[in-house]
Formats: sequence, C-alpha cells, structure tokens
Amino acid sequence: MKIPQEVQAGSVTPEPFDKTKNIYFSVLASGSTGNSIFVSNNNTKILIDAGLSGAEIQKRLAIIGEDPENIQAIIITHEHTDHVKGAGVLSRRFKIPVYGNKRTLSASASCIKTPCETKFFESGTPFFIGEMRINPFSISHDASDPCGFTIKSGNSKLGIATDLGTATALVKTRLKNCTGLVLEANHDPYLLATGPYPWSLKQRVKGRTGHLSNEEARDLLGEIAGKNLKNIILGHLSKENNCPAKALSIVSQALNNHNSRLLNATDEKPTSIFQI
Ligand SMILES: [Zn+2]
Ligand SMILES: [Zn+2]
Repeated sequence: MKIPQEVQAGSVTPEPFDKTKNIYFSVLASGSTGNSIFVSNNNTKILIDAGLSGAEIQKRLAIIGEDPENIQAIIITHEHTDHVKGAGVLSRRFKIPVYGNKRTLSASASCIKTPCETKFFESGTPFFIGEMRINPFSISHDASDPCGFTIKSGNSKLGIATDLGTATALVKTRLKNCTGLVLEANHDPYLLATGPYPWSLKQRVKGRTGHLSNEEARDLLGEIAGKNLKNIILGHLSKENNCPAKALSIVSQALNNHNSRLLNATDEKPTSIFQI
C-alpha cells in the first residue's frame, strides 16, 4: 500500500506572500525524541523549543538554509527533555536568550543550566520579539506550567499546540483564525490500547494531561479551521502508537470544505519551509 505523505483538501490558491512581514516556518523535529520549530518573518528568527542536541539543531538549521547565529530567541513550551535538551548549549554557543515562564524555566534549570540570558513571560500575556507578537496560552499537560503559542506577523498567524491532553475552551479560542498550524496528533487509541506501553504509561498518554489522539486532533481542527488556514502540520506522532497514514486520514476528515494542506512532521528530519 502506498502511504500518503500529504493530504490535499480542495485546491489551494496561494495568497501573495509578503516576504518582509509574513511568517515562514519549518518543523525541525517533532516527536517524543525531540521537538523544535523554526519560525521567521525574515527580520526576526526564533526557535520554539530546542529538544534535540545543540549539534543536531545546528545541522537541521543548515539543512533549511538558516544560520544559528541569526536566531534571536529560544522559547520553551515546557520542561520535558524532548523540548529543552539543546536549549542551554545553543544559548551559550550563539548568545541566544531563553524565554519561558517562571515555573517552566525553574523546572528545566538542571537541563538548561546557565543560558546566556533568561527572559520571562507569563502565560496569557503577549510579548514581542522584533515585530513578532507571541501569545503564550496555558495547555493541559503534565508539566509545571506548559503552554502553546500563537505567533502573529503581517497577515500570518501561526498556532502551535502539541503536548496537550485535552483541547480546552482556551486552546480553541486562541487557535481560531490561524494561517498555519502545528497540531498534535499523538496516537491512535486502538494502537495505544494494544501496544507495548505499560498500563500506567497508557493511562498517562490518553489522560487529560497527556497527549491528543488523532480523533481529538480532528475534532479540535474541525472547530478552529477557518478559510485562511493554509498549512497544517501534524506533530508529536508516536512511533509506537500511531502511523502517519492513519493520522493524516483521520485528521483530514475535518477539512472537507477547506483549501488547506495537511502533512506530518517527524523527529528524523526537518519539514520543508511553509509560507503562511
Ligand atoms: Zn511533554
Ligand atoms: Zn513532548
């Protein structure tokens, strides 16, 4: 069977892309072994999470033609190792400030150690890096103070929501009117139930502070997908408890009437660059 790598719902008529203001991004890695997303509006370049080794993130930035010297911020969603592993090394090596809320940065202090600079934000309070407006919002996950983000610049709005056990009303509100989205589709409930994880871990993954299933991602997407949503990247797919073809097929059910492009990221290599 040919495994679809991408689902195209309807035909996409791309809007003109303003290279000076609008956002482009690449998911450098997404999955339980490492997460990092490169986001830029040309003038400002940031990383959301740095959950691979510093060297591996450098390598992946080079693959998409970006230089770590130009990264202005590493913004942390939560303290789990798959999101912070390389943050300290990159921060020290390239003088990049690390942004996080107080509880997240305190919980990840032993992993990040001494970054070149620490900057705090509060979940629920937007802040700017260059002309990018970053809005952190709380998510339901088993970490100290985890958050997702929306990032706005020009006509673009990128939503990032992985590592959430349930899609709360706040998450749905924040993710409305995105032009690009990185959304968790972690597991297939049947594969999880019959798979190799011990019982306690299965309970954790499917619980309210665990990870979203394909069906939960589909239902969330159905509620938030608007007419301007161009690219949706499914992230944090479990190797043991999911398969990309299944995730794409189920989540695409939410996109019957949309001209959106849906594909999945992996933890093995960066995605291409998406202009939104
Ligand atoms: Zn996590
Ligand atoms: Zn994670």
